[in-house]
Amino acid sequence: MERNGLCWCGSGKKYKKCHMAIEEKLKLHADRGEIVPNRKLLKTPF
Ligand SMILES: [Zn+2]
Repeated sequence: MERNGLCWCGSGKKYKKCHMAIEEKLKLHADRGEIVPNRKLLKTPF
């Protein structure tokens, strides 16, 4: 995902201003072997 591109969620915001931080958190959990929610579950903006 391009950081300066539009976010995949369709909010119209740049990815880095929208879901990037959330996905980085998810990645931390995934790296620990934990189950992380699917992107579809994250569609509602925080
Ligand atoms: Zn987003």
